[in-house]
Amino acid sequence: MNSKIYLSSPHMGGKEFAFMKEAYDTNWIAPLGPNVNGFEKDICKYNMVSRCAALSSGTASIHLALILLGVERDDEVLCSSFTFSASANPIRYQGATPVFVDSERETWNMCPKQLEIAIMDRIAKGKKPKACIVVHLYGMPAKMHEICSICGEYDIPIIEDAAEALGASYHGQKMGTFGDLGIYSFNGNKIITTSGGGALVSNNEEWINKARFLATQARDDAPHYQHSHIGYNYRMSNICAGIGRGQMQVLDERVSQRRAINQWYREMLADFDFIKFQTEPNANYYSNYWLTAITVEQNKKGITRESIRLDLLEDNIESRPLWKPMHMQPIFQDAPAYTNGVSEDLFAKGLCLPSGSNMTEQERSRIESALMRLLS
Ligand SMILES: *Cc1c(COP(=O)(O)O)cnc(C)c1O
Repeated sequence: MNSKIYLSSPHMGGKEFAFMKEAYDTNWIAPLGPNVNGFEKDICKYNMVSRCAALSSGTASIHLALILLGVERDDEVLCSSFTFSASANPIRYQGATPVFVDSERETWNMCPKQLEIAIMDRIAKGKKPKACIVVHLYGMPAKMHEICSICGEYDIPIIEDAAEALGASYHGQKMGTFGDLGIYSFNGNKIITTSGGGALVSNNEEWINKARFLATQARDDAPHYQHSHIGYNYRMSNICAGIGRGQMQVLDERVSQRRAINQWYREMLADFDFIKFQTEPNANYYSNYWLTAITVEQNKKGITRESIRLDLLEDNIESRPLWKPMHMQPIFQDAPAYTNGVSEDLFAKGLCLPSGSNMTEQERSRIESALMRLLS
C-alpha cells in the first residue's frame, strides 16, 4: 500500500526546534514566557494589528471573543453557516443561540444580502444580534467591506474567524483585522501550526488584556488566590509558542506554496469544464488557498464529487467533502437560519483536494495519476 497523502499536514520550517530548545534550556515550560511574548509580537507585526493574545486553540479564541462582547444566555449571534462546527460551538458554550447566514456564490462565504435580511428579521422578532462571526473559508476572504458596512449600520460587532485564512488579504489588508476581534488557529492541519493553538487579535488593548486575564483563571490582583470572575485555562504553552515563532518565519513561503499547488490543480484540470474552483473574484481578494476546493458539476461521464473522493482513497490519498453547513447539522437543527441554497449546493458537489505545502513531487504525480485515471 502506498503511504497516505494527507489533506494538509504540519510542515516545519527548521527554526522551530531551536525556539523549543531554548524554552527547555531556560525552563520556561509554562503557559507564559519569552516564546509566548515573541509569538504574539510576530502575529501583530505580520497582520499589522496592535494587540494579540496567544491561546490554546482557535475555538478558545472564539469563546473569549464572545465573552468580551458580552454574549450571554439567550442572546443571539449571527454566524456563517458554511463552516466548521468550531465557529459556532462557542456560541452554545455561552448559552446563546446561533443564527446562521448562508453564503454567496463568488467567495462561498457569508452573503451580505442574507446577512441584512437576517439582521432585519431578528430585530423585527424582538432581538438584535449581539455579534456576528464571519468565516473566511479555506482561506478565501469574505466580502468584508459590505459585511462591515451592514454590521456597522446596525452597530453589531464582528468576530472574524480567520482560522483558515492567516496570510490571506482583502484590498491589501490581512484577514482577521477587519472585525472588532479576529481569531486564528494553529491546529496541526492549518497553514502553519503550533501543534495546537490559537490567537485572538484586536486593536482594542483593553479587550486583549482582559482576554489574557480570563485565559489564566481570572485571578484578581491579590497575594492569595481571589476570583471575582469565572476564569478559563486557555493560554498557549511557551513550548507551543516556540514552534509558532519558527513557523511565522516561513508563513509567506507557505502561502506561496499553497497558491502554487492551487495553480497546479487548475492547470491539471483545465480541460474538464465540469470541475470548478473556489476562485478569487478579482485582484482585491488574495486567498492563502489553505485548501484547494472544487465543485464537480453534472457531466456526461457521470463523475461526481464522491467518485473522485473514492478514487483518490483507493490510492490512499485523502480528500474531503466541503464543510456540511451548520443549518444542516443535527446539533443545530433548531437554530434560526437564513438560507438561499448556495451552501447546500456547494456541499452536495464540493471537494477539498490534498493541499499540503510539504507534498513531494512523487506524491503530486500520484495525485495526478489518480485524478487522470478517473477523469480521462
Ligand atoms: C480550525 C478551525 C477552527 C478551530 O480552531 P482550533 O484551533 O482547532 O480550535 C475554527 N473555525 C474554523 C473555520 C476552523 O477551520
